Amino acid sequence: MSPSPEQLMRYLLMLRNNGVTDQRVLHAMELIPRDPFATGAFQDRAYEDTALPIASGQTLSQPSIVGKMTQALNPGPRDKVLEIGTGSGFQAAVLSQLARRVYTVERFTKLAQSANKTLDSLGLVNVTVITADGSLGLPNQAPFDRIILTAAAEDPPANLLAQLKDGGIMVLPVGQSSTVQTLIKITKTNNNLKYEELQEVRFVPLISGLAS
Ligand code: SAH
Repeated sequence: MSPSPEQLMRYLLMLRNNGVTDQRVLHAMELIPRDPFATGAFQDRAYEDTALPIASGQTLSQPSIVGKMTQALNPGPRDKVLEIGTGSGFQAAVLSQLARRVYTVERFTKLAQSANKTLDSLGLVNVTVITADGSLGLPNQAPFDRIILTAAAEDPPANLLAQLKDGGIMVLPVGQSSTVQTLIKITKTNNNLKYEELQEVRFVPLISGLAS
């Protein structure tokens, strides 16, 4: 099932009205259908600006948040990107349109397998899904031009900051509370870190260790 042209037009307009203004990001989101990443009856709501439940008690993020995080990350066509928190694979799919290579890490094997299947079915060959504890990063593929976390940490994980290239950007939700967190953008220049607060968000927590 792909969206009707009218559904797609309304979706793009809604994204724009809700803060996704970068043309490249809007184009990437036009190319990636969201319904294959939703489960069961929730596929009918794939083009609404709402987070949707997926397996293992996790969530497919709200599309305008995916768009705004992608535009803050600002990946370039030659960039190697690391995502922590594959979930459905939707954010990774959007990134695949803007970057050279995307590595995405998920702690639930079941979610990683299902995301991998969806990404394959869409022919997105530049995304690699890995089952691992993403709080450790991905040392054997580091360093990365861009790192994005789609699960909330109390503080930016030191392992991930160390795996960010000089000139790199990291976007992540941080906060101690599970109900409200702040989305932040970190830019690394000459080993200095600049922090910018973007907006309040609500994500599932980043949890250490593989899920059983
Ligand atoms: N980016 C996703 C949204 C995922 S929700 C999408 O587009 O659908 C956050 C995901 O982070 C969950 O699937 C959760 O299992 C995962 N997660 C939490 N802690 C993790 C960790 N330490 N390593 C890897 N994945 C983690």
